[in-house]
This record gives sequence, C-alpha cells and structure tokens, in this order.
Amino acid sequence: LQGEFSIIQRETGFISGLVCVLSDITKQEKVEQERRNFVSNVSHELRTPLTSVKSYTEALQEGVWKDEEIAPGFLQVISTETDRMIRMVTDLLHLSRMDQGNMQVEMEYVSMNDLFTHILDRFDMMMQSEAYREKNYKIVRDFTQRTLWVEIDQDKITQVIDNILNNAIKYSPDGGSVTCRLMETHNSVVLSVTDEGMGIPRKDLNHIFERFYRVDKARARSMGGTGLGLAISKEVLALHGGRIWATSVENKGSTFFISLPYESFDDEEEWG
Ligand code: ADP
Repeated sequence: LQGEFSIIQRETGFISGLVCVLSDITKQEKVEQERRNFVSNVSHELRTPLTSVKSYTEALQEGVWKDEEIAPGFLQVISTETDRMIRMVTDLLHLSRMDQGNMQVEMEYVSMNDLFTHILDRFDMMMQSEAYREKNYKIVRDFTQRTLWVEIDQDKITQVIDNILNNAIKYSPDGGSVTCRLMETHNSVVLSVTDEGMGIPRKDLNHIFERFYRVDKARARSMGGTGLGLAISKEVLALHGGRIWATSVENKGSTFFISLPYESFDDEEEWG
C-alpha cells in the first residue's frame, strides 16, 4: 500500500483536518507490468516478420530477382508476412479501441440458429475449395430445435465464431470432424465447437485467451496466426455480458464454448 497525507490548514494556520489516501500499488504495478510486457510483445511480434521481409528483399536486390525458380517463392514469403503484419496491426487497433471503451457496438436481436447456420454454410463452402478438398474435414451440426433469439452485435460475434472455427480447422488432422453445437441453459445460449486435433495442455488452457499467448509459438506463427484472436474474442464476449472458455484433452481434441445472456420466452409461438 502506498499512503499520501495532506494537511487541511486554514489561513489562520489552524489545522482543521488530515487527509490520508491509501492506494493499492500492487494492483497498479501489475497493470503497469502487463502494459510493459504487452509493448515488448508487440515489438517482438512485429520484428520477426519484418526481419524476414527485410532479408528476403535484400536477397532479391542482390540478384535473386533474376532467378525465375527462386524469386517467386521469395516474393510469396514477403507477401504472406506482410499480410500477417497487417492482420496483427488491425487486431491491435481493435484491442486498443476496446481497452479505451471506444468500441462501437450495434446491438440487434438475432436468431442464433440462423447466424450459426449462415456461418457454417460459408465454412462448408470453403471446405469444398481446392485448398481444403483433400483434407476431408467434416463439419457436423447439432442444434437445438428451438429458435434462440439473442441481442448481439452480429459482426463482432461472427468474428468470434469465425476465429474459433478457423482454429478448429487449423488444428484438425486430415479427415477430422468439427462438431458445432447450439444449446440453451435457463439463462444463456451456449455455442460450442469441438475438434479432434492435438488438444491444449492443461497448464496452457487458461492462458490461451491472453494476448500473444500461444502453446507452440513457432508452429502457430507458421500457420499465420497473430496470437490475438482469442484475446479479442474474450473482450467481445465481455462487451456482451457473455463468456468464452475451453476444455481439452491432449491428443484427443478441444472444445471451445461461448455463452451469451438469453431470456427464453415460453410463449414463443404466440409471437409467430
Ligand atoms: P492464433 O492466431 O495463434 O491462432 P489465437 O488467439 O486464436 O491465436 O489462439 C491462441 C493459441 O491457442 C493458439 O496459438 C494455439 O496454441 C491455441 N489454440 C487455439 N485454438 C486451438 C485448437 N482448436 N486446438 C489447439 N490449440 C488451439
């Protein structure tokens, strides 16, 4: 604890009071420490792709550009790494806006069944594209029959679901299933995505929602990740009064859950 004393003194010199302010500096220090870590992480995360862009550019300048076999590969690396940096900076801007409480949310009532269906249709389409066809990933839907209306910012929740699904696919083995469920409890709508991937060690499970935390840094980076997707998802859910969490069994797979506040209307039929 840090204490500060002030004396309240009249013009006559009479001391009429004493004010003592005690502040919990352990908490302040923790926030300050987190901020320093964050800045150092951002610098490091940007430095890695920048260094690689720089060295590939230099090689091209030094003559590789003339080599028709090698040059296209080098240009591809530069382009991929630049894309990743752009994604990272965009993600950082989103986070900073949310940190400052400046994030605009546009809440509207949405049928979660329709929204999730729409997103999964898009993923099904993507799985048929050339890049994924050979992988044989299966997306399984297991939805409640009831239509669940929730008040959300549709774009932001779509981003969260996209991110979870992208991760599920990224970490799936060939031929793996990704099972998508939609359920309700008495006061919330719960959506889950289960994969059959490598899973997440128990010690990492609570950390993966932290900024830049990755179980296997090198591997996650090589897959194009920014390490910010789940941190953003957590903030988006907090804006909605909801929650995001995960369970996992190593070498078996992981399940990511999101829950959103929900009031069920028993007389739903009457509303047509
Ligand atoms: P990234 O851009 O690295 O995917 P995320 O914030 O989306 O960042 O995820 C953070 C980390 O959580 C990932 O790097 C990975 O280690 C782990 N992770 C996320 N989803 C899964 C999953 N479905 N299976 C295994 N690990 C996962």
